[in-house]
Formats: sequence, structure tokens, C-alpha cells
Amino acid sequence: MRYEGKVAIVTGAGSGIGRATAQRMAREGAKVCLVDVNEAGLADSLPEGDHITMTCDVSDEAQVKGVVDAVMAKWGRIDAVANNAGIACSKEPITGNDMATWTKVLGVNLIGVAHFIKHAGQVMCDQGSGAIVNTASVAGIRSGAGGNAYSASKAGVINLTMTAACDLGGHNVRVNAVCPGLIETGMTKPVFDYARDAGKEDRLGSRCELRRYGRPEEIAAAICFLASDDASYITGQALPVDGGNTAS
Ligand code: NAD
Repeated sequence: MRYEGKVAIVTGAGSGIGRATAQRMAREGAKVCLVDVNEAGLADSLPEGDHITMTCDVSDEAQVKGVVDAVMAKWGRIDAVANNAGIACSKEPITGNDMATWTKVLGVNLIGVAHFIKHAGQVMCDQGSGAIVNTASVAGIRSGAGGNAYSASKAGVINLTMTAACDLGGHNVRVNAVCPGLIETGMTKPVFDYARDAGKEDRLGSRCELRRYGRPEEIAAAICFLASDDASYITGQALPVDGGNTAS
């Protein structure tokens, strides 16, 4: 029970990787605040026990501060934050990009992460311990894995992870990231539906060395490791969890 007595916040917990992360942290003993814009998704994700859901748009700093304040009022500490909420965008060339998409994608995927690092990070600095894990992507490491704004946002998350680790390390607060490869979730449903309809499901995992796509639980396992005391000497790192996609 690595999370016995610990309090965790998981964003994007209404679906996919965030749901699997919140449910695993709860199984391992944490009290979890599940955060998402999707209220119905949160209700489906909520584990049994002493946990709460909060509807919040991570791109809105006031709403994020509201979540941190509510968790402090209820449980009085924050030990782990999984910054996992994210949105995708289409993969058209940059010359065709609608720049409003950039504002939206960076607002959720990058600035949303910064909001939680700022407000939960302050709490963790004050208590002298804590761990934050940000969900980046292989798209932040290499080209071709996502749309332009999405990939730039995830590259930003990787750098923010390093700089925040430097800012907070002196307070015993760790900041790491995971970089998932292709995982079957709500976000990638159109890709999977298209491939299955076209009879090309076998191609879905073909870009990685394990020759298969991943499951949300496999990313949750890495997030829960990095946010736990098992990773007590790891900070500022971005761990690919991608079946070897970035190895080749
Ligand atoms: P998902 O769509 O199943 O889950 C994402 C969740 O984030 C949804 O529940 C959504 O409602 C929530 N969300 C979106 N905007 C929000 C906002 N402004 N505030 C709060 N919540 C918001 O997708 P997923 O694949 O589980 O995605 C989780 C993370 O993993 C994302 O950051 C995504 O970029 C990243 N990722 C996914 C893959 C993949 O192949 N699925 C690969 C690499 C990285």
C-alpha cells in the first residue's frame, strides 16, 4: 500500500489514463481528488471509499486554485499530483493551422499543468514533501506523433518538468513526466475506430518495438511509481512508456 495515508489529485480523471491512475492510487491506499471537465466521466471513475470529484477546467487558474484549496480544507495535505488532463488536435501541416487551436491546446496541455504545479507545488513546498507527475507524450520528443500544437505543448511539458524540478527540489518536492506512446483511450478512439473499420488494427502498434499499442493501466503504473516513495531519488525526468517507440 504505497499510498497509505497519502492525498492525491489526478486531473483528466474522467477517462482513460487519468481514470486508471486515480483508481490505482485509490487501490494503493490514497485519498484521491478526481478532477475533470467531464462530470459524467468523473462519476464513472469514482472509486469506492474516501474520495471526491471536482469539476474543473485546468486552463483556468482560479478553478485550479479552488481545487487545491478544497483538498486542503478536506484533508489538510497534498502528497501527489498527476497532471494528466489533455486534448488533442488534428495533424494538418502548420500552414493550415487555426491559431485559436494553439491557444486552446497550450492552455489545457501546458498552462493547465503549470497551474497545478504552481498551486499544489506551493502546498508541497510548505509541507516539505510531495511528488508531481505530468503526462507528456512521445509527441513531445519526436515529430509525426501528434498535431503541431499538441506536440509543442508536450515538449513544453517535458521542459517545464525539468525547470519545476529545479525550482522545487530544495523543498523535497519531485517533478517528473511520463511520455506515453499510443494508448487506447477516449482521445485516440477516432484513430482506433478508423483502423478497425479499415481492417488495419494490426498497424496500430506497428511503430513500436513491442508491436502493440498500450493500455491506460500501463501508463498509470508508471505514474504511480514516479509519484510514490519508490521513486524518492528521481526528479526532473521524462520517462517514455511507449513499448520502445522512441528507442528506434
Ligand atoms: P482521454 O480523452 O481519455 O482523457 C483525457 C481527459 O482529460 C478527459 O476525461 C477530458 O475530459 C479531460 N480534459 C480535457 N480538457 C480538460 C480541461 N480543460 N480540464 C480538465 N480536464 C480536461 O485521453 P487520454 O489518452 O487518457 O489522455 C490523458 C493524457 O495522456 C493526455 O494528457 C494526453 O495528451 C496524454 N497522452 C495520451 C496518449 C494516447 O495515446 N492516448 C499518448 C500520449 C499522451
